[in-house]
Amino acid sequence: MDGREVRMYTCGPTVYNYAHIGNFRAYTFEDILRRTIEFNGWKVKQVMNLTDVDDKTIRGANTLNIPLNAYTDTYKKAFFDDLKKLNIEPAEVYPAATDHIPEMIALVEKLVEKGVAYKSEDGSVYFNVRKFPGYGKLAHIDFDNQRTGARCAADEYDKENVGDFALWKAWEKSDGPVGWDSPWGRGRPGWHIECSAMSMKYLGETFDLHTGGIDNLFPHHENEIAQAEAATGKEFVKTWMHCAHLRVNGEKMSKSLGNFFTLRDLIEKGWSGREIRYVLINAHYRAGLNFAFSALEDARKALSRIDACVEKATEGEAPEWAKKHLEVFTLAVNDDLNIPRAFAALFELVREANAKGAAGTLDVFRKMDKVLGVIFFGKAEKAELPDDIKALLAERAEARKAKNWAESDRLRDEIAAKGWSVKDSKEGQTCTKK
Ligand code: AMP
Ligand code: ZN
Repeated sequence: MDGREVRMYTCGPTVYNYAHIGNFRAYTFEDILRRTIEFNGWKVKQVMNLTDVDDKTIRGANTLNIPLNAYTDTYKKAFFDDLKKLNIEPAEVYPAATDHIPEMIALVEKLVEKGVAYKSEDGSVYFNVRKFPGYGKLAHIDFDNQRTGARCAADEYDKENVGDFALWKAWEKSDGPVGWDSPWGRGRPGWHIECSAMSMKYLGETFDLHTGGIDNLFPHHENEIAQAEAATGKEFVKTWMHCAHLRVNGEKMSKSLGNFFTLRDLIEKGWSGREIRYVLINAHYRAGLNFAFSALEDARKALSRIDACVEKATEGEAPEWAKKHLEVFTLAVNDDLNIPRAFAALFELVREANAKGAAGTLDVFRKMDKVLGVIFFGKAEKAELPDDIKALLAERAEARKAKNWAESDRLRDEIAAKGWSVKDSKEGQTCTKK
C-alpha cells in the first residue's frame, strides 16, 4: 500500500481459446473488488497477466502452423472485447508472458544461485521445494504425508503429488519453432514463474493483494510465493483472495469437462453482457454458484425493474431514506464484498423510490453502480446512439411538437424495427436498446 494506492495482481487468461463464463466469474469478482476499493476513495494499480505461452497455446499454433503470437492475438483481442461487454474496468497493466522472458530468466538464475533451484539432465530447471521452508503455507500442505523427491513437469497437479516444479522447460520436438535461448539451453518458462516475475516487476517485491479462482491456490499461488520469497527474502503478498467456482450441475465449469459457455455463446442466445454480469456477481464470491438459464431470466426482470426506476430518478439532494439505503449498501460491500446484501439495499431503494417518488435519487444509484456496474443510465447512453437513430428521434421530436401523433407513432415503430425503444416523459424522449 503506497499512500492511498492498493497494488493488486490478478492471474489472467491463457489465451488459447475464448474464455468461458466460469473464468469471468473470477474476473468479475476481481472487478467488484477493485471497484469497492475505489468506492472507498483509494486508487488501484492492477496488473493482469496474459499467459501467451504454454502447452495449449503452443499446440494450437503448431497445429495451425502459424506463429505463436498470431495464434494468441486472436484470443487476446477476444478477451478484451469480452471484458468490455461485461463492463469490467480495465487493469492498469496487461503484461504478456512472451514480452517478459528476460525477467523470468533473471529470476530463475537468482533461484539457481541461491541453491533452491537446479538444472535437470534434460536442460530443464526445477525448484527444490524442500529447500524453501515456507513451502505449503498457503495451501496448508502437510509434508509428513508426502512423497518427497518427486518431480513434476506439468504446470498443474494436485496436493497429493507435491514435488519439485518446473521453472524452465527444456525445448522439446513438439514445441516446434517456439523457444528462447537461456543459460540452460533453448526452452521456455513454466507457468508459475511468469506471475512471480511480472508481478514483482510492476508492483514491487511486496504488494497488497493477489487474486484468482480457488483452483489457482494450489499449486500456482503456492509456487508463486516460493519463487518470489526464496529470491527476495521478503514477504511476497499481504493478502490473498480467491473466488469459488462457477458450477454447472454441481461440477466446476471448465474446458476439460466440456460443460462450459463462452460469453459469445450466451450473447448469441440473446442475453446481454449486463444480464450475464448480474448473474456472475450476485452471489458471495466465496460461495459456490451454479449456472442456470433461469438466473439469466431473473436478471432480466430485476434489471428492468431497476431501469424503470432509474429512468424516473432525478438529480438533486437525496432524501434521507435514500441515504440510509446507501449506508446499508456501503456496509455490505465493505463487509468482505457482500454483493447479495448490497443488491438487497439497491432493491429497497427502488421499492421506496417507486412508492415515494425518485426525485433526488439519481446520485445514490450512481454511487451504488460504481461498485455494481450493471445500471443503465439512459441519459448517459443517449450520447452513444447511432446516427440514424438520432436522426429519427429528432424527426419524432418535431412531429410531437407539431402534435402529429400518427407520425410520432410511425417513427417509434421505425425506431423499434431497428432494435431501439423510445419512451416519452416530461423531459422528452428516452431511447434505449431493446
Ligand atoms: P485459466 O485460464 O484456466 O488459467 O483461468 C483463468 C481464471 O479463471 C483463473 O483465475 C481461474 O481460477 C478462473 N476459473 C477457471 N474456471 C473457473 C470457474 N469454473 N469458476 C470460477 N473461476 C474459474
Ligand atoms: Zn498467476
